[in-house]
Amino acid sequence: MEIREFNADLIIKNCSILTADFNILNDQNVVIKNKAIVDIGNAASLSNMYQARETFDGKGKLVMPGLIDAHTHTCQQLLRGRITDEYPMIWTRIMVPFESTLQEKDVYISSQLSCLEMIKSGTTAFIDAGGRHMHKAAESVLESGLRGVITCSTMDYGKDIPDTMKSGAEENIRRNLDLYNHFHGAGDGRVDVWFSLRSIITCTPDLIQKVFEAANECSTSVQSHMNEYTNEISYCLENFKMRPFEYLESLGVLDQNFLGAHSILLSENEMDIIKAHNSKVVHCPISNSGKGIPKTPSLLQKGIGVGLGTDGAGHSGLSLFDQMKVFKSLVRAFWGVPIFDPAAMPSKNIIEMATLGGAKAMFKEHQLGTLEVGKKADMVLINIDQPHIQPTHHLLNTLIESVNSNDITDCIVDGKILMKNREVLTMDEEKIKYESKLAMKELSIRANI
Ligand SMILES: [Zn+2]
Repeated sequence: MEIREFNADLIIKNCSILTADFNILNDQNVVIKNKAIVDIGNAASLSNMYQARETFDGKGKLVMPGLIDAHTHTCQQLLRGRITDEYPMIWTRIMVPFESTLQEKDVYISSQLSCLEMIKSGTTAFIDAGGRHMHKAAESVLESGLRGVITCSTMDYGKDIPDTMKSGAEENIRRNLDLYNHFHGAGDGRVDVWFSLRSIITCTPDLIQKVFEAANECSTSVQSHMNEYTNEISYCLENFKMRPFEYLESLGVLDQNFLGAHSILLSENEMDIIKAHNSKVVHCPISNSGKGIPKTPSLLQKGIGVGLGTDGAGHSGLSLFDQMKVFKSLVRAFWGVPIFDPAAMPSKNIIEMATLGGAKAMFKEHQLGTLEVGKKADMVLINIDQPHIQPTHHLLNTLIESVNSNDITDCIVDGKILMKNREVLTMDEEKIKYESKLAMKELSIRANI
């Protein structure tokens, strides 16, 4: 019997790759061992160097770092189709009854469906903005094989919010600490637990300060919805005579571990504040399009880390390819047209935001976001040998123009294959779809939405 010595776990052979400086190289091999990328190079020169337990034929495929959804809501998967075209206030009429009725089993199936959709859309990591019963979301992430940041929804203020959704500072911190102690670092580092503010209009200054203190003590990060709605700006101006980021700065809490989701309605001074504290932001183009156009060209020019997010299935589905397409058109129309700059948002920048930008938003750019030796083996394979993709003069442009979630064939996280030829190996797709339908029906009746 032949005894073979393996010096790699997985090799993807003869593929095209998205390089760390966001260019395309053809005829490459990618070698994975012990959850990390151990070699990338010309297929011919690497061909005899590695014996792997598993080999992927990468012919006609592009291998790129997995996309990172830097702002989503795994608890809102069962809201799909319910929000679009609704008049205000969606928060009070739909979101509050929906979220306040969520039970553990709803969160579990919702987050399972969410993970399933992400895997099939080319997303390998995400940041959840915080919901209820988040231990069930953590369980789903662990089972799915994805990488994720989770946190509790944290609120203690607001007349529109039922008592069941808000609690005092101590209770809020205790709940988040519980989650942190149980799940931070679980799955060999695939799950991180952060602290969060749901938004600054639903948190008192006391709670805000305590959340940042607790996160500091745990050496973890904080995220909040920021500068998303005009009423949030009014609230800050009326109560504190400051805009939202100025208000957080005045509380002395802003630092490099803060992620401001949305961050659309920013003043020049607020952008300078974000830069000065080295905080990060994430835009959700489709969700944002009804509220404001982010000042991304200015933010990038200032050197601020910007990620892209979906804002959950309630707003737009979980495809970052869809977000990238819409984002390019939005920024070009709003910022490019008035100054006649057709390249106001180049494809390269958008791909970088959805990968390395997301890694920066997770504070893990040293581990994720690019295909580089030593980084985690989180990547997706795209079938580029299709009539809507080939031939092309510039594959990077075509990635934004024409590629969609269905073109993702395989998904690898931490060196483990989560999807092969579009079959998800870690989750029972049929069961999840069936149970989600039942859960959505029950939940709609219970929440009366
Ligand atoms: Zn959100």
